[in-house]
Amino acid sequence: CFIYIYKRIDSVINAGILPSLEDLLFYTVAEGQETIPAHKFLTALKATGLRSGDPRLKECMETLKDTLKKTSDGVTLDRHLFKKCVQSNIVLLTQAFRKKFVIPDFQSFTSHIDELYENAKNLTGGQVADYIPQLARFSPDLWAVSLCTVDGQRHTVGDTKVPFCLQSCVKPLKYAVAVHDHSTEYVHSFIGKEPSGLRFNKLFLNEDGELPHNPMVNAGAIVCTSLIKVKAVTLRRPLCCSSLCDRFQSERESGDRNFAIGYYLKEKKCFPEGTDMTSVLDLYFQLCSIEVTCESASVMAATLANGGICPITGERVLSPEAVRNTLSLMHSCGMYDFSGQFAFHVGLPAKSGVSGGILLVVPNVMGIMCWSPPLDKLGNSVRGIQFCTDLVELFNFHNYDNLRHCAKKHDPRREGGDQRVRTNAASSGSCDSTPLQQFALSSMDMEQRDYDSRTALHVAAAEGHIEVVRFLLEACKVNPVPTDRWGNTPMDEAVHFGHHDVVTILQQYHEKYSPPSDDEHKTSPEKSLDSLL
Ligand code: GLU
Repeated sequence: CFIYIYKRIDSVINAGILPSLEDLLFYTVAEGQETIPAHKFLTALKATGLRSGDPRLKECMETLKDTLKKTSDGVTLDRHLFKKCVQSNIVLLTQAFRKKFVIPDFQSFTSHIDELYENAKNLTGGQVADYIPQLARFSPDLWAVSLCTVDGQRHTVGDTKVPFCLQSCVKPLKYAVAVHDHSTEYVHSFIGKEPSGLRFNKLFLNEDGELPHNPMVNAGAIVCTSLIKVKAVTLRRPLCCSSLCDRFQSERESGDRNFAIGYYLKEKKCFPEGTDMTSVLDLYFQLCSIEVTCESASVMAATLANGGICPITGERVLSPEAVRNTLSLMHSCGMYDFSGQFAFHVGLPAKSGVSGGILLVVPNVMGIMCWSPPLDKLGNSVRGIQFCTDLVELFNFHNYDNLRHCAKKHDPRREGGDQRVRTNAASSGSCDSTPLQQFALSSMDMEQRDYDSRTALHVAAAEGHIEVVRFLLEACKVNPVPTDRWGNTPMDEAVHFGHHDVVTILQQYHEKYSPPSDDEHKTSPEKSLDSLL
């Protein structure tokens, strides 16, 4: 199959035309075939973490659909058609296939996630909340995990399409909106920043008796609700969705404690002047009743991981300051009376809710939503806690994990993982052109050496792989005369093993370019890719 790839690359190079990004993407996906079945492209796309429904790939997917209708079998794309489909989203697609996303080896990462999911699935403890019928009806077996990275890579496992109420998981979101709409100073003139050390629904203010402790407990969240600008609009508009209405009514009917907190806050003048406290409580109950799925909530978490920009729409939803404040408070106060322990063991910002959700953020990497209704004694999802704990056991995501010297844990992030993949691949002596092609696409240094200082060109020359030799010389512009630890060059190898055609290519190349000697010649990975493109 590699012969085909190199012939095509040769022909464009010989014609004086450098392969375009679309060409390179075609060769990568086609793996030596002349055509690509659409499902093969979609499978390869999924392996990068991108979804075909990603709004950033809209043009590509629409063109693909239209193009396939016009093909004879409704499936197969030749190079020309493929290029037409991918061209409008080529930058994102190239990033994906060049493994430039935050989790480059997404498939391996998600297989670990699936194992952690399975591990937590076996847990049986906990009680499903039953203070309203809308929560009591959930099966204790429901269990779902969805994640979305800051590059919009998505993965989902379990009951991720079942809708459930955000409940207290909405608290960080509305706090973020309040800070975004006003300012940190304004919001914190009404609400503190300190963990309360008390039950989340305690009728209590901070030491000076002035402010609710923080926006993650009910008192703080109710005051926070009075600060968000959506209030007037939401409350005037009739509720159009009957199930939201049912949940909201149930919340209100069982909300005596929250009413008590509301009146107490009013008595203590905790709201901005002119606040209608009962309307604020209505909005508070409505916000608790917002329905999400694990999948949709993972994008909300990812927006927090991504400094307030939604990874899949690119839209700025929250200011970086609002997000930073929110993550800080989630970290110290987000997990009810388990917050200190969670910060200690997991070391990530999170917020849980009575419906069994845990909104977890790995800042600058990904957002995760875990959902399973059975709760432990402190009100956190039993399976969710297990998953979060296992996650940081396996990956170095804990805020205080040392990223440089901790060898025990995996680092799936680009800077860590990618480097290791590159080194192994380069020194493996692989002469299969498909991986080489992919490495070139991923801007790998095609001149890397193994422990004997041998390069891929040494191996290709010794084994007589003409097309690979051509590819390395012409497309990757590698140094043609590197010496291994015995002082041998690729030419020496080709002569030694009697590969005359390789000798000829090396000679011609040498005459054409008369490149500098081994010591002088240095090609950076970026440079070799630039010349390739
Ligand atoms: N609706 C609940 C309340 O305000 C939310 C509880 C929770 O998720 O913590 O009491």
